Order: sequence, then structure tokens, then C-alpha cells
Amino acid sequence: MKNFQILKGEEVFGHRGLNTAIGGALTVFDAEAEINVVPAITATAGSAGSLSAKGWKKLSAEILESVKSNLAGVDGIYVSLHGAMGADGELDPEGFLLEEIRRLAGQHIPIVISLDLHGILTDLMIRQVDGLTIYHTYPHIDFADTGMRAAKLLLRIVAKEVIPVITRCAIPALVRGDELITETGCYGDLICQCQQLEQEGIVLAAGIMIGNPFTDVPELCSQVLVLTDGKKEAVTRIVLQLAQDFWALRHRMQSKLINLETAIKEADLIDAPVVFTDAADATSSGASGDSNIILHKLIEKNYSRRVLAQIVDPVAAAASHAAGVGAEVGLRLGGGIDLDRFVPLQVKARVRLLSDGTARLETMKSALNAGPTAVLEFENITLVVISNSVNLFDRAIYYSNGLNPKEFDLIIVKSPHTEHHMYDAWVARNFNIDVPGATSANLRSLGHTICNRPIFPLDDDVEFIATPSFYC
Ligand SMILES: [Zn+2]
Repeated sequence: MKNFQILKGEEVFGHRGLNTAIGGALTVFDAEAEINVVPAITATAGSAGSLSAKGWKKLSAEILESVKSNLAGVDGIYVSLHGAMGADGELDPEGFLLEEIRRLAGQHIPIVISLDLHGILTDLMIRQVDGLTIYHTYPHIDFADTGMRAAKLLLRIVAKEVIPVITRCAIPALVRGDELITETGCYGDLICQCQQLEQEGIVLAAGIMIGNPFTDVPELCSQVLVLTDGKKEAVTRIVLQLAQDFWALRHRMQSKLINLETAIKEADLIDAPVVFTDAADATSSGASGDSNIILHKLIEKNYSRRVLAQIVDPVAAAASHAAGVGAEVGLRLGGGIDLDRFVPLQVKARVRLLSDGTARLETMKSALNAGPTAVLEFENITLVVISNSVNLFDRAIYYSNGLNPKEFDLIIVKSPHTEHHMYDAWVARNFNIDVPGATSANLRSLGHTICNRPIFPLDDDVEFIATPSFYC
């Protein structure tokens, strides 16, 4: 629960001008003189493990209390959700919240939500809402745009211009890998069709959600979602075709991972910067960020070029702060959170720089608070040690600690992907390393026990017959 940043009432307007879904929605609402926005509450946290049952109870009560006390005279409700939350004892947190918001608001106040394409949109969630919009980009950059589309849709529903019908086709497949990058991958080609349907006004909204393989809940799947003004047979055919096309591409949409030792050997031969992508320890996907497996192996194999990396280790960060800049400290690095997977790395390091760990994401511009942070140097390695798990899918934490990735030969990135210009545009090669971690792209290694089976690629011989569901 302490991971959540809560904004209440007028504080929510702090999103104005930010590339967030709420920021985008506010742009639309603010442009209409007759719209009066009643800001309720926002609760945001970086990805992590499941929220405790106690934390979930407190958080959901706080959210619903805020909705309840702000409902008087409201004509429409916009809810910005990620959609893949995990909470102990609640397999559908967003479904619970929306069901309760619907109960508080009654049947006649329109509710429109916006979602991350990694969300797990459940039947319960869809039954509570009048409309929805979904991100069209991965890596995500269209946060504000998705909020704008949701706000515009809500205003049209409130004005009784449109009565949306949601057509959904669930696909029993989990996907990962480079083909998910919308600018270059085959998933992006399908998303382009969704965008075209929206832009040409054929549909009110369209998108393809791929779920989050690390949130093991019953309705985990991929799904095509299209909203039309009334039911449209021609659009139903398009939904089914998109689902079939997605299914046909499922084998391509898996990660191609490389063995760590092989990657080190190959990297050693390249006279230009390379990236080692550690998607298995991606904090933005919910991993602990304390993996040191790649560092361990680089040292063991005597890799001698300049390495830049990040790690979540509040104990080492505190010890570095206590020692001060310039001091040499003996530390056990990493392996302090995911104890089953990682073993601390014993090093003697020099403290090069200390900071409070604040930064702003490069694209979204939202604040990061990594807590007490230390830049350490040992052997050929420069390591940023942070105290809190924050998103590491861009270069914000490096930049804010005076480090330029371009000055290194091997950069470890704890994110499945980054925006193209951040690394891929200038590195010689990006290796997707096959190492253990809570968010490994090796999906079979994750050990799902709850999600509906069979599902590709967890099971063999999965069959799929595209079938539409309609929600009016
Ligand atoms: Zn996402």
C-alpha cells in the first residue's frame, strides 16, 4: 500500500499537461466551457507483486468512499485503469471497483474507462461500463491520447449521440517479444487496422489487449475489442478476422531469448555499444529489480568492457549514503528481495555519486521516486543502486544520476522493450537474455496455476474458434 501515490480532489488536476490518460481526458473536458470536472481520486503505483489483502481493502475502500462523496449531480464518470492489478484474495480488483462504482452511480450514469493494452479486461468489468478505449502503442506513448479518446466518447454518450455496443473476441493466447512493438512488429499491423477503424469513424473505439502474463487470474487472455454505435454485423466480421489474424501470428509473437554465456561471448566481439535486455527482472512488469545474475556472469567471465546497470537494493543504497561520496564500501548487492532466485553479489565498490532518486520519465514526464540512490563503481562496472522499485523502461534514472548510456559498452536494461530512440537506434545489438526472474518472457517457466486453460503457449494443441460476445 505504501507504494501507492494517492491524489485527492484538486490534486488530481496535477495531471494537467502530463502525458497520462487523466491528463489527456482533462484536456478534452477543459476545452468544453459547460463541462465541470469533479476530481475524485487517483492511486498510482509502479508494477510490483500482489497488493496485500489488507492493503487492497484499505485502498479500495478509500477509492469507493471518494467516488461516493463526489457523485452528487454527476452526469458521467471517467475511470483511468491499467487493468492488470493483482491483489491477494481478489482475483478481479478492477472488476470489483467498477461493480461498486456502478452500484453507487446507478444504472443511468455513463461510465467510460481507459485501459493499458496489458490489462486483463474481464466480463465483470465490461458489464459495468458504457465504453472503453485502449492504448494503441507499445512501448506505450499514447497515454494522453487514450484518455482523450475516452473523454470524447464519454461526452458523446452523455449527450446521447451514441449508444455503444461492445463486441469482444477472447483469444486463448499469451504473447511477448519484439513483434509486440507496434511501430515495427506484426501486432502493430493489427493495431493499425484498429486505429484506421476509429479514424474513419466506422467504430467508436477499437483495440487488442494482450493481458499481462504475470498476473495469474482466471480471465488472463488476449482479446479484440470494438465499440460501435449499435450492433453492426460488418464490424463483427472485422472483429473475428482480427482475432483469427492475431491467433495465426501467435508463434511469431513469442520472445527469442539468448543464453547468457553465449550473449557475453558475442558481445565481447562487438566494438560498439550493446544492450542486454533483462525482461525477467523488469520492474515495469512487476519484477523485484534486484536481479544480479547478469552482473555475476559478466564478472565470472571476465568481461572487461564498460558496463552500466541498475539494481534495487535499499540496504546497499543506505550503506553507500552512510559512507559518503568517494568512500570505498564492501557491499552485498542484489538478491535482497527475490530470495528464491538471486544470491547477493559481494563487491568492494567506490561511491561515485549520491542522490535522492527523483527523476521524471522521459516520455510520460511523470515523477519517479527511487529513494536514496547511489552510483557505485567496481571493476569495469558502473551500477545505479536504487531503494524503491520504479520504472526502468527508459533512461531517466541514468540521466538524473549524471550517467549517459552512450558512454558505455554494455548497458543492462530491466525492461522488455524501450522506445526505439532510447537504445535500439544507436546500439549495435540488443540481446534478449534468458535468465530467471518473476517476469521472464519464457512464459512456461512462470508456473501459472489460476488462469483458464488450455492457453497458448502454456499448453500444447490449443484450439481456437473465434466467437464474438456482445455487451449492450
Ligand atoms: Zn502496459
